[in-house]
Amino acid sequence: MATGNGKSRTGDFIAWHALSTRDALERLQTEHTGLSARDAAARLRRFGPNLLPEAPRRPAWLRFLAHFHNVLVYLLIAAAAITVSIGHYVDAVVIVAVVVVNAVIGFVQEGRAEAALEAIRKMLSPQAAVLRDGRRLTLDAAELVPGDVVLLEPGDRVPADLRLLHVKGLEIDEAVLTGESLPVGKQVATVGHDAAIGDRADLAFFGTLVTRGHASGVVVETGPLTEIGRIGTLIEGIGTVTTPLLRRVARFGQGLAAVVLVASAAVFAWGVLVDRFPMGDMFLAAVGLAVAAIPEELPAILTIALAFGVERMARRHAIVRRLPAVEALGSVTVICSDKTGTLTRNDMVVEEVATDDTLYRITGTGYTPDGGVLVENGPVDGAAEPALVELARASGLCSDARLRRDHNGDWHVEGDPMEGALLAFAAKVGIDRDEDSAVMPRLDTIPFESESQLMATLHRVDDGGVIYVKGAPERLLALCDRQRDRVRDERIDLAMWHRRLEDMTAAGERVIAVACRAVPASLTDMEFGDLEEGLTMLGLIGLADPPRPEAISAVADCRAAGIRIKMITGDHPETARAIAGRFGLSTDEVMTGRDFDLLAPGELAQRAAEIDVFARTSPEHKLRLVEALQNKGEIVAMTGDGVNDAPALKRADVGVAMGIKGSEAAKEAAQIVLADDNFASIAKAVQQGRTIYENIRKSIAFMLPTNGGEAMIVIGAILVGLPLPITPIQILWINMVTTVTLALALAVEPAEADIMKRPPRPPGEPIIGAYLIWRTAYVSVLMTVAVFALFIHVESDNGLDHARSLAVNVIVAFEAAYLFNSRFVRRSVLSRRGLFGSVPVLVAVAAVVVLQLVFTYVPLFQTMFDTRSLSLSDWGLVVGAAGGLFLIVETEKLLARRVLWA
Ligand code: ADP
Ligand code: MG
Repeated sequence: MATGNGKSRTGDFIAWHALSTRDALERLQTEHTGLSARDAAARLRRFGPNLLPEAPRRPAWLRFLAHFHNVLVYLLIAAAAITVSIGHYVDAVVIVAVVVVNAVIGFVQEGRAEAALEAIRKMLSPQAAVLRDGRRLTLDAAELVPGDVVLLEPGDRVPADLRLLHVKGLEIDEAVLTGESLPVGKQVATVGHDAAIGDRADLAFFGTLVTRGHASGVVVETGPLTEIGRIGTLIEGIGTVTTPLLRRVARFGQGLAAVVLVASAAVFAWGVLVDRFPMGDMFLAAVGLAVAAIPEELPAILTIALAFGVERMARRHAIVRRLPAVEALGSVTVICSDKTGTLTRNDMVVEEVATDDTLYRITGTGYTPDGGVLVENGPVDGAAEPALVELARASGLCSDARLRRDHNGDWHVEGDPMEGALLAFAAKVGIDRDEDSAVMPRLDTIPFESESQLMATLHRVDDGGVIYVKGAPERLLALCDRQRDRVRDERIDLAMWHRRLEDMTAAGERVIAVACRAVPASLTDMEFGDLEEGLTMLGLIGLADPPRPEAISAVADCRAAGIRIKMITGDHPETARAIAGRFGLSTDEVMTGRDFDLLAPGELAQRAAEIDVFARTSPEHKLRLVEALQNKGEIVAMTGDGVNDAPALKRADVGVAMGIKGSEAAKEAAQIVLADDNFASIAKAVQQGRTIYENIRKSIAFMLPTNGGEAMIVIGAILVGLPLPITPIQILWINMVTTVTLALALAVEPAEADIMKRPPRPPGEPIIGAYLIWRTAYVSVLMTVAVFALFIHVESDNGLDHARSLAVNVIVAFEAAYLFNSRFVRRSVLSRRGLFGSVPVLVAVAAVVVLQLVFTYVPLFQTMFDTRSLSLSDWGLVVGAAGGLFLIVETEKLLARRVLWA
C-alpha cells in the first residue's frame, strides 16, 4: 500500500468516500474476495490491532490516596496528633500504622475486584465476519486489517471503517458518531468529496450499529485512525463497582456513621464533664468508639462479595455486563427462554424428507456428509431420485453456511447449524453445493429473518433463472400453487402436505419447506413480490434438534427454586409442544404469535401467566410478553439473540443475550451474556445471584453485632466511670485483624446447598429484617456482659493490663465463634458442613488465632499494645465464653425455627 494506513504521504486523510469501489480496493491492494490469511497477518503486524485507545485509569497513587479520604481516617490522624502531644509516641506510631495498613488493604481489595470485572469485560470482545482466502470466517474484530472484506448483518456493530462494496437494504444507526438518532440508508455509489460524515452513504463507520439489511465492505481504516478513533471517543471503562443494593447499604452505613459520631461526641463530653477524665484520653476513647462502631469496612467487603460472585458466574459461562442484574437475578420469578440453541443443542441433523409421493429417512450423524437414504427401511440410491435431488440442490444453494473439516477429521458448521444440516443432507444425496454454485451462480438473496420466516436465492441457469425458497412450511405452503411430481409440476395437494407436516412436527422435528420458481433471465434481483406467485413445492425436510440434557435438569432446578420457565420459539407450535414436553413444561396449550395478536391487553397478561409454550412468535411478541408478565408482578428474565430482541432484553428485569449466536445489538442491550448459549448457565447465574445476595446479607449480619458489642463496651465503661476494658489502640487492632480475616470470609462463601430450593426473594425485601435486628441486639448485649464480667473478675486479681489482654481475646474469640453462627442465617451450623464446610472461614479463623498469639505473647506487640501473657486458665475463660455464645445463638436459631417458621 503506497499510502500507509489512511494517511497519504502529505499527512492528509484519504477521502475514501470519494473513491469508487474499484479505486478503494486497488489502493488497499485487495479484492472483493478479501485478503489471504498470510497477507492479513503481515498487515496486522504492520498496522497493529484494530482497537480504540482505552480511557486512562486514575493513576494508582490517586486511587491509593482516596482510601485516606474519610471521616474516620481524619479522626484517627487527629488522634495520632493528640497522642504525640501528650507524649504517647508508641500509640501514635500504632495509629498511623493502622491507618496505612487499612488503606493498603482497601486498595489491594479494590484493585482485585476491579481487575476481576475488567477481565470479565474483556471476555466480551466483539466479533466480525470476514472473508479470508475467499472463505467466510468469524474473527475477533481486533484482528481486522485494512483490505479485509467484512460482511454485515442486522445487529452487528460495524467493526472498522468500511468502504461498502455491496449493500442490500442496509440501514445503519450512526448516533454514536453523528448524534443522528434515525438510522441512515447506505449505498455503494460514490458520494462527493465534500460530503460531511453523516452524508458519506458509501461508508460504514466503526462502532455504528446495523439496524437492517446486509452488506459487504472493505476495511479502509482500523483502530485509532477510524473516524470514531480520531474524534477520541474512548471505550467506556468499567463503571464503579456498585449496585442499587450496595448503594443502599452504603447510605445506611453513612447514616450509622453520623449517629455514631454524634454519640462519640456526647460520650466525650460526658467523660470530660461528668467523669472528669483528662481531655486527651477522652478524645482517644471517643475515637476508639467511633472506630469500633462505624462499619467502615462494609463497602469494601460488599464489593468483594459482588466481584467474587460475578467472577464465579463468568467461570460458569454467564458474563455480567451490568452489575445490578446480580440483584435482580436473585428475585427472578419467570425465565422466558428461546428454544433453539438454548434449550436444545442446535446441532441439527436431517432425519426425514418428504417429497410429493415418498417419505425418505436419512441416516448418518452430525454434519458428516456420509449417510444413506432409506425408503420404508430399504436403502435406495438417493442420486437416482429426481425429486429428492432437486430438493437437495435447492436446499444447498439456498444456504449460506459451510461445512468444514478439522484436523481430527470431524465436521463442523460455519454459520447457521440448520443450513449446515441441509448441506450434509445434500451431500448424502450426492450433491456438492460448491459445484452447483459454479454452474448456477447466485445473483441475489433475500436473507432469512424471523419476521418473514423464509430465505430465498436467485440463480442463473443456462439461459434462464430460478428462485429457491426455504422457510417455515405453513408460510411456504400458503405461497405455493403447484408441487413437483417427480419431474413435472402439478396442482398442489395442500391437505397431503399438511398431514405430512403434522406427522413430522409431532415427533419434535423442526420442519422446513423448500420451493422453487423458474424465472426469465432478465430478472437479476428479487423482491418479496417475486415469491408471491408461481412457487412450486419441492418437499419438506424434518430435522432433529435434541434437548440439551443439562438444560433439562436446569429447568427442573429452576422450577424447584420457584421459578416458572416459559419457552419461546419461532418454530412450529407442534414442534414446540413436543420439545417442551421433554422439559416437563405444561403443554396443554401452546400460544402462537397469531393468538397473541388477537388478545386484548388484559387478557394477554392473564394468558401469558398461564401458558408455558409460545410458538411462531416474532421478536415484538417477546417485548409484549415481558410487559404482560411484569404487569402481573413477575420479575422476568428473557433471552434473545437478534437485533429485534433488543427492546425485550432491555425491558426485562434481567436481559440475557447469547454470546455465540447473539448479535452485538442483543449483547449490548442485555445485562448478562451467556458464553455458551446454554440455558443451564442461566440457572447457574440465578444460583450465583442468590448466593451473592445471601453472602452480602451474612456479612452485614456478622458485622453489625460485633461492631455493636465493641461500641457498647466502650460506652458502658464511660457511662459507669469504669476504666475502659479495651484501650482505643486495642480497638484499632481488633478492627484491623477481624476485617481482613473474619468479615471477608463470609463474602466469598460458596452457595448453600438449599439455595435453589427456596422461593425467589421478594424484590423489595429489606436486607436486614426484624429477625436480624433482634439478633444484632442480643448478641451485642451478650458480648458486652461477658466482656465486663470477665474483665472485672480478672482485673481484681491480675491488674488492668492483664484484664485488658483477656478482654481483647474474648472479643476476638466471640467474633470467631459468631462467624460460624453467621454462615447460615436460619439453619443450624451444627454439622460437618456447617462447621468445616467453608475453606475461607477456616483459613480466616486460623489466621486470627495466629495473630492473637502474636498480639498476646510477642514482646514487641506487648509494648505496643500494653498486652500481657495469658495463662492457660485465662484461655479457658476465652474459649468457654466464645463457645457459650455460639451455643446460645444456635439454640436461639433452633427456637426461632420451631416457633417462627414451623
Ligand atoms: P427459533 O426460535 O426456533 O430459533 P426462528 O425464528 O429462528 O425460530 O425460525 C422460525 C422458523 O423459520 C423456523 O421454524 C424455520 O421454519 C424457519 N427458518 C429458520 N431458519 C431459517 C433459515 N436459515 N432459512 C429459512 N428458514 C428458516
Ligand atoms: Mg433461530
